[in-house]
Amino acid sequence: MSASSQTISLRLFGAGGAFSRRYGTTCSMVTLRDGKRWLIDCGRQAPDQLYAAGYAWHDIHGQIITHCHGDHVFGLEDFAFVRYFETHAEVMASSRGGPLPKYVSHSAVRDEVWETLAPSLRYVQDGRGNLRSGTLQHFFQVIPPAAVEPPRKNPWNHAEAFEVDGLRVVTRENEHVPGKPSCALELHVGEDPRDPRIAWWSGDGVVDPAFLHSIEPRTSIFFHDCTFIDYPGQVHGFFDRLEALPEAVRRKLVIMHHEDNLELYRPRVEAAGFRIALPGHVFDLVAGQQML
Ligand SMILES: [Zn+2]
Ligand SMILES: [Zn+2]
Repeated sequence: MSASSQTISLRLFGAGGAFSRRYGTTCSMVTLRDGKRWLIDCGRQAPDQLYAAGYAWHDIHGQIITHCHGDHVFGLEDFAFVRYFETHAEVMASSRGGPLPKYVSHSAVRDEVWETLAPSLRYVQDGRGNLRSGTLQHFFQVIPPAAVEPPRKNPWNHAEAFEVDGLRVVTRENEHVPGKPSCALELHVGEDPRDPRIAWWSGDGVVDPAFLHSIEPRTSIFFHDCTFIDYPGQVHGFFDRLEALPEAVRRKLVIMHHEDNLELYRPRVEAAGFRIALPGHVFDLVAGQQML
């Protein structure tokens, strides 16, 4: 565990979109003030991204998931199995009594995550002959929300808030694929619990200018997924819509989850005042500045 630091940082392992080969699928590591490491999403390339960056699953305290698409969750099976079966350094395998990694997501997202993982993870015996009794709780300590905001358009809660081991995060539904549970994240970055400052992470979703504008005064940094393709039935942050955001939002905004032809658009991206996230970049979530 690293020494404590005065800030909360976010390091991108993968910064590309769903089909990116050059920038990798989504997985980022948030390091809290006490040195605990949490992952935001765990895409299909996450096991190799962590390894390449010099980390093991046993270095990770917890996992946050925004929504259930392969570029965000297909690394989870590897995470679950390795922690369950393998002992690494002083961290015992969870099947032998070692600590479970923590798991945070909106409950509607969690249900879909389990649908994805169940065909691999449910084969845990319960001692009474049931060969399929595995649950997400066998592999992760699933954190319940500390507070919820009731449903609006969809049948699930509009937002669920979590407070665990120094992490304070709100998972709030965003507009991604219609009818599909998906959330943006509001990571509380102030040292004082009354400090409303957040770092905002879009997950995957379309641009919501009114909402982004409304939270800008208390937001130190925005990370927004970005596409340069005007797909019919757009489900991502179309760049033309990001470009039209108020300047106060744009100068705090980092684009991520972008396509491999990003460099074609760099002049336009930088002219609008955005920063670009690439694999290996590290951001100070309190100051809103890039560190590496
Ligand atoms: Zn995605
Ligand atoms: Zn998605």
